[in-house]
Amino acid sequence: MSYAHIIVILGPPGAGKGTQAARLAEATGFPHVSTGDLLREAVRRRTPLGLKSKAIMKTGQLVPDELVSQLVATRFEEGTAESGIILDGYPRTTTQAEYLEKIAGTTRPQVLHVAVSEGQIIRRISGRRACVKCGKVYNVHFLPRTDEQCGAPCGGELVQREDDREEIVKRRIRIYLDLTAPVIGFYKSRGQLTVVDGDLDVDSVAKQIAELVMAGRASKRPAGREQSRSRRDDCV
Ligand code: AMP
Repeated sequence: MSYAHIIVILGPPGAGKGTQAARLAEATGFPHVSTGDLLREAVRRRTPLGLKSKAIMKTGQLVPDELVSQLVATRFEEGTAESGIILDGYPRTTTQAEYLEKIAGTTRPQVLHVAVSEGQIIRRISGRRACVKCGKVYNVHFLPRTDEQCGAPCGGELVQREDDREEIVKRRIRIYLDLTAPVIGFYKSRGQLTVVDGDLDVDSVAKQIAELVMAGRASKRPAGREQSRSRRDDCV
């Protein structure tokens, strides 16, 4: 079974995909599926998938397509014809995008590209801190915690993700440009892509995304024409 509404949030590391997907999940009631979160959970629980993925993720590389696609396929088996799903961090390669076409059946995913300038990426990622217990994300620049503890009931310690260190972030951006940027072209040529200005503040980006999703605009446009809210040449 597939979903009636499939929303894909694409963007470079630090674009705020996770934050925006969580906000959209709240607004729509659709489940938020982050492959990064699912993989980190597998690593924490030391499952066979987690053991295979741990070293790959630490270095900022991509986990093999078939392992990640299997995770997503499992979620799709739980879908119903009326419901929707928000994919955050998937697809990240054209092979994954082709796989998603297969499991999506007759539904055409609505793809939102959260474009951000490189300066913003480094600033956001260098400030990012995550709770060791529940994974909630904070930022020393935008959402600071003076006590360095999670505000959620778990009260876990806030730490920097290993793959958020500067040299790893640079590699993740390179991988994004090599492997994930072509996914943008894939959806652009199918007329399924809308660009969102990710340099704006969190609330403004959330508002743009909510409006687009409610209108279901991207999926109704003729193929081959990219919808753009604001495109700047320094954004990736
Ligand atoms: P994220 O939290 O989305 O930044 O993902 C963290 C890490 O998980 C990535 O750097 C990859 O190592 C891995 N990962 C997450 N999603 C995917 C995917 N769709 N394909 C391959 N690797 C992924």
